[in-house]
Amino acid sequence: MINVTKSSMPFFEEYCQEIKSIWDNTHLTNMGPVHNRLQSALKDYLKVENIELFVNGHLALYCALKALDVKGEVITTPFTFASTTNAIVQVGCTPVFCDVKDDYTIDESKIEGLITDKTSAILAVHVYGNICAVEEIEKIAKKHNLKVIYDAAHAFGVEYKGRGIGDYGDVSMFSFHATKVFHTIEGGGITFKDESLKAKLNAERNFGLSGEELVVFGTNAKMNEFQAAMGICNLKHIDEELNKRKLAFDRYAERLSDVNGLTILGEYDFKRNYAYFPILIDGYKKDREGVMLALKENGAMARKYFYPLVSENLAFNKDLTALTPKALDFSRKVLCLPLYAGLSISEVDKICDVILR
Ligand SMILES: *Cc1c(COP(=O)(O)O)cnc(C)c1O
Repeated sequence: MINVTKSSMPFFEEYCQEIKSIWDNTHLTNMGPVHNRLQSALKDYLKVENIELFVNGHLALYCALKALDVKGEVITTPFTFASTTNAIVQVGCTPVFCDVKDDYTIDESKIEGLITDKTSAILAVHVYGNICAVEEIEKIAKKHNLKVIYDAAHAFGVEYKGRGIGDYGDVSMFSFHATKVFHTIEGGGITFKDESLKAKLNAERNFGLSGEELVVFGTNAKMNEFQAAMGICNLKHIDEELNKRKLAFDRYAERLSDVNGLTILGEYDFKRNYAYFPILIDGYKKDREGVMLALKENGAMARKYFYPLVSENLAFNKDLTALTPKALDFSRKVLCLPLYAGLSISEVDKICDVILR
């Protein structure tokens, strides 16, 4: 069976070598030496000024929203993973859903119409590693004095105009979950420019402690040394991994472009990471369910990602989907095909054969 994704693994001996020092110093967690080495390596790789590491991406985002003191309404999109919206609600804010564009990212032309006197921030998502209109969003935010937070969970290694994508906005959250392009088993990072956020993020991730003082009501979201060791090993192979993904991605693009009823995304003006291969199935000989079933019968698992929309969460107690017709439509028609570094060209061909047949 070909799964939709497969976690990349370093060599077993490499990981053993990396965790040896943990037995010598018994420093298991709380920002130990392996954590610190990973932090510095990621800062360089992602081309950002600062990065703080967390036990997972979701708590990283939660801590960042708290550290930025985001209040009231947050403009975001419903075409994302549950984490984005949950973090907004968990810090006591109200998500305001903005529709998306053809590349699945937030439609910046619709943001200003949603701003009220309660709006404090924009939380946009670099969906599938496609970047949001970062420059236009920055302009809107400046004009209305709003914070800009990016959910960059899909965007590890993405660059725009020679800058790391985490260098845009006030903060960006990267997820290092096992299913992501780069992983630390579970893990996450917050990148940011304002140095004063460092102490705040630290306190939020460590029970609200700052030195010996209790300064806020913080949670516990520290990355441990075993996670960091996995990250150090995986980071050594990341360029190789991205190249392998590119080969599979390009093959899909070659085989599935110019097929009536299938839409795949076209040219890009930024450095990609080949995290996902979404296709939009609209007016094809089979609908999404039909294509998914045919793939399953032939040994390949595709994923309805994202379906349902986060705005369909029953806890809202009302139907919010009509506010974002495009996102609603995409959530009914999009299918992510299997894509990971070890996926061979012959497997990609097999998947394409099934779809085209
Ligand atoms: C994976 C993901 C997250 C959450 O990251 P975790 O590290 O799994 O907590 C948040 N947002 C998006 C868009 C994601 O894909």
